[in-house]
Amino acid sequence: MRLRVSIGVAAFAVLAICCASVAGWNARDVAAADPAALQDESTPAARQPAANSPTPETSAAAAYIASLGPATAITEPQMANAKPAPVKVNPIVAELPLGTLVTNGEPLPACAYGRVTTPLISQTHWSLTLVDTTYALPAGWAPTDLVPTLGVGGNSRELVRSIMTPDLRRMTAAATAARAPLAVLSAYRDYRTQVITFGHWQNVEGFKAALTSSARPGHSEHQLGLAIDFESRGGPQPWTFKDWATQTAAGVWLASNAWKYGFVMSYPRGKSALTCYIYEPWHYRYVGVAEAAAIQTSGLTPRQWMWMHQPNPEPASP
Ligand SMILES: [Zn+2]
Repeated sequence: MRLRVSIGVAAFAVLAICCASVAGWNARDVAAADPAALQDESTPAARQPAANSPTPETSAAAAYIASLGPATAITEPQMANAKPAPVKVNPIVAELPLGTLVTNGEPLPACAYGRVTTPLISQTHWSLTLVDTTYALPAGWAPTDLVPTLGVGGNSRELVRSIMTPDLRRMTAAATAARAPLAVLSAYRDYRTQVITFGHWQNVEGFKAALTSSARPGHSEHQLGLAIDFESRGGPQPWTFKDWATQTAAGVWLASNAWKYGFVMSYPRGKSALTCYIYEPWHYRYVGVAEAAAIQTSGLTPRQWMWMHQPNPEPASP
């Protein structure tokens, strides 16, 4: 029972970074980013977990949603001066076979808030599917191969795509052997859960701050079923530390070794201008061993790497 409570609280706090949208947002295209909002490298410890949180389980999610009361409309004062999206990626190339060179020659866009369907949306392109503050998944998009982490390297009913389970199992075993045991705090979250989550964080810390610490619905890596928020096995929650990645055995081990098992830290310290979110030392995205090794070698953030490997926006020659 204690574990259940711990997982719930943790899932909610991290929710912030990985999910949610609200009425009115989807109708908009793109709004200018507020650079000031991204210069806040506030530590995770500044965020206090809510007393309740959603899980992929229907009953738990329903209880969580009920606990929040009536939906609260999100106001969007920053959306008044909307601008067009920086780049429109040609959707025709979205179904290119794996292995096709799809390098995008366009420079990485500055962090902006828009809603453009991410081009590599097929589940077969999972390692390069980019979701950020501009590029998003459709509301109804969901993986078809979700499995509980229980028994495959995790220790909870949190769901992940089955393609990651061999590496997840190897990684958690290695962490345990290194006396840095890990636990899965939160994994797959659907669109609806993120609607609630973003709305909650807007209410807690305001719209501007919520944009940098919580993903709007459709923009969360957790909707891919490929993101995991980890914690030290037995807790406490990672955001109770000033820096979980340097102050705990699990956090230190993961920061150094996750890439060997196909996981990359999506929002590293000091990179907010590139990642568009505050530092999240517990949030990892699974991209596969080969891709993770390439990202590690490059020194780039995952968003930079994935942007470079999106389809070229120029139409193909006839
Ligand atoms: Zn997360």
